[in-house]
Amino acid sequence: MLMLDILRKLVQDVDNAPNLLAALDVIVQSVRDALNTEVCSIYLLDERSNRYVLMATHGLNPNAVGNVSLGFSEGLVGLVGQREELINLEDAASHPRFHYLPETGEDRYNSFLGVPIMNRRKVLGVLVVQQQEKRRFGESEEAFLVTLSAQISGVVAHARALGQLENLHAPKGGVASPRIFHGVAGASGIAIGRAVVIYPPADLESVPDRVTEDPANELQQFNQALMGVRNEIQQLDTKMATSLMPEERALFEVYLRMLDDNALPAEVIERIHAGNWAQGALRSVIDEHMQSFAAMDDPYLRERMADVRDLGRRLLAHLQQQTTPNRDFPESSILIGEDISTATLVDMPLENIAAIVTMTGAANSHMAIVARALGIPTVVGVSELPVGNLDDAEMIVDAYQSRVYVHPSRELRKRYKEIIKEERQLVAGLDAYRDLPAETPDGHRMTLYVNTGLMADVARGRERGAEGVGLYRSEIPFMLRDRFPSEEEQRNIYRQQLSAFAPYPVTMRMLDIGGDKDLPYFPIDEVNPALGWRGIRITLDHPEIFMVQMRAMLKAAIGLNNLQILLPMISSVFEIEEAQHLLLRAVSEVQEEEKVTIQTPKLGIMIEVPSALIQIKDLASIVDFVSVGSNDLTQYLLAVDRNNSRVADLYTPYHPAVLRALQYVVTEAHAVGKPVGICGEMAGDPGTAILLMAMGFDSLGMSASNLLKVRKVLRTIPLTNAKELLNEVLAIDNAAVIRSMVELELNKLGLWDLVRPTQKPVGGKVPA
Ligand code: PEP
Ligand code: MG
Repeated sequence: MLMLDILRKLVQDVDNAPNLLAALDVIVQSVRDALNTEVCSIYLLDERSNRYVLMATHGLNPNAVGNVSLGFSEGLVGLVGQREELINLEDAASHPRFHYLPETGEDRYNSFLGVPIMNRRKVLGVLVVQQQEKRRFGESEEAFLVTLSAQISGVVAHARALGQLENLHAPKGGVASPRIFHGVAGASGIAIGRAVVIYPPADLESVPDRVTEDPANELQQFNQALMGVRNEIQQLDTKMATSLMPEERALFEVYLRMLDDNALPAEVIERIHAGNWAQGALRSVIDEHMQSFAAMDDPYLRERMADVRDLGRRLLAHLQQQTTPNRDFPESSILIGEDISTATLVDMPLENIAAIVTMTGAANSHMAIVARALGIPTVVGVSELPVGNLDDAEMIVDAYQSRVYVHPSRELRKRYKEIIKEERQLVAGLDAYRDLPAETPDGHRMTLYVNTGLMADVARGRERGAEGVGLYRSEIPFMLRDRFPSEEEQRNIYRQQLSAFAPYPVTMRMLDIGGDKDLPYFPIDEVNPALGWRGIRITLDHPEIFMVQMRAMLKAAIGLNNLQILLPMISSVFEIEEAQHLLLRAVSEVQEEEKVTIQTPKLGIMIEVPSALIQIKDLASIVDFVSVGSNDLTQYLLAVDRNNSRVADLYTPYHPAVLRALQYVVTEAHAVGKPVGICGEMAGDPGTAILLMAMGFDSLGMSASNLLKVRKVLRTIPLTNAKELLNEVLAIDNAAVIRSMVELELNKLGLWDLVRPTQKPVGGKVPA
């Protein structure tokens, strides 16, 4: 077989393996066969002990698996890890770093080829082949191992994150030790609480083990699920009776046999008796069966593997249907999950949610924006979080430092309790700014708007003195339903927003879906959604949806006259012209229907796309106002996906290109006499807010949680200082330097606590 074919098959086999250990086993066996060597082994880094543990081998003593390990700087394996590059030796024993492991029986092997398994600049382990014959491995063998190692690194990283590598080497049953994980801040704040794992429905792999206190109840739930699935399969069988051949329908019989009391169910029940909850017991049984199927090469048996998985999912779906509504969310619950959608979040008992932590996502993912609006501290992109092992674990979430502590020590908890107390005092101190205008000491007055989506934002925004709504994300109410809301429903929702702020303006953005914002009932499956069908592109293709929304907004504003309409994702003049045409039509329709004279609302566009930035004068001339959507503009200017945690470090509003682009928008829009606001997240960050004010933005729109902080900053820094600072930073070519300069300025004004309260630069104690 060609190397490429071998690789392809291997990757497929690894994909089919039920868990990491089975996958590693497949790898070592196939590599040994493919390279015709005597030994292939994989060592993985155990982070707790900082040692490379032998996790799979073909050729060395199998009993050594999980029992032998090498320190960071021990042996040739340690050296491969240290150097982060391959080592190819004809005579390993003569190398000064050779370290003989007697338990493995490796003394017979002379030649050694080791390559690091790397993921995101970190060494996760080492892949090794060995042979008795003294020879240097050839170039094509080196290339094969390097390619393979790159392929498997993702699998290892994922398994590590799901907790499958926990405790493989460490002594079992000990007290859980404290650990720190890093991510990206989604919504600032600190929380102490207990983890509640949220896993996507019917996703077997992510079901955690959980000790049950009521096995009888778990048994009953399982039996009910079993009955449900048996019925389901019988119904399928009947339904297919006319369209499937009898031998094809035999599959259903196989399913039913697998569900026989003495088959799979007996094993699950045994595990429930042993103390696991029904879902965990089911997952472990299915896992084990998949593992034994994976070891077989026969395509027929592989098919059976898919059947077992399918049955597992069906049973799980039934179990989850029974348990979800009763899910317990104790006070100070910390929601954790691989991914948590906006819809899942808003469905939670929000008063009990202290914080959110997810493995995926980035600072400006939609869920993070909603969490920010709700004031729930959130850390996203914690790719290493062992979600599967964390249910009910005590945790501290420090979203200022983007850190998550699992099983924190007593001292750390004490320190964080103090910080939380200090933060409460800070927030209480901010109350003084509720009714004060956002006016600098040298008399420059800014308009602060709130961004809304939920009704909760309205109350909080008003309470904190917002002078209107800069961005109403109209897609949020669409996300909370299982179908498009009717015109009348929409009218009621919009009326609440408009009347809460009248006579202040409420800027309603037309439906902005696509990209990372999917409606469950209108799925858009695209390879590259950020550059695909989203925002205005969808609504112009669906004038029926657009018109209903516009009509509902116009009707809602009757008698209030404070509606402004905002178009998202504009990239060309013709999109504005088409929307204007539809708006005029909607106005005349509503006038006719409601028998009133409608004041045509002001129409604005969002500047989110580089083409709109470059053509700003053309676009601004034909609308009433512009509003910069800096979240998307940053993503498109820097070519950094705002949802991708891998490149989250590159996504920064302090990038010189972003700052200079924003200054350009303000100057050009003003040159054609149009007001310009900004409604992206950077308007609500005290550091960037002062730069935006200095640039000349007419208004800043932010989530309610940031209104008081920003007002305090603006009331502290004179406009002249902010302008001097802006002039200095616009000449700098490096984002990190710009950020430090801004933070230094805030610190000089005694405002450090508003930026990073848990990381004091002078004097203050910073937790480890
Ligand atoms: C933006 O892109 O900056 C914006 C405000 O819109 P959203 O975050 O909803 O995409
Ligand atoms: Mg946007």
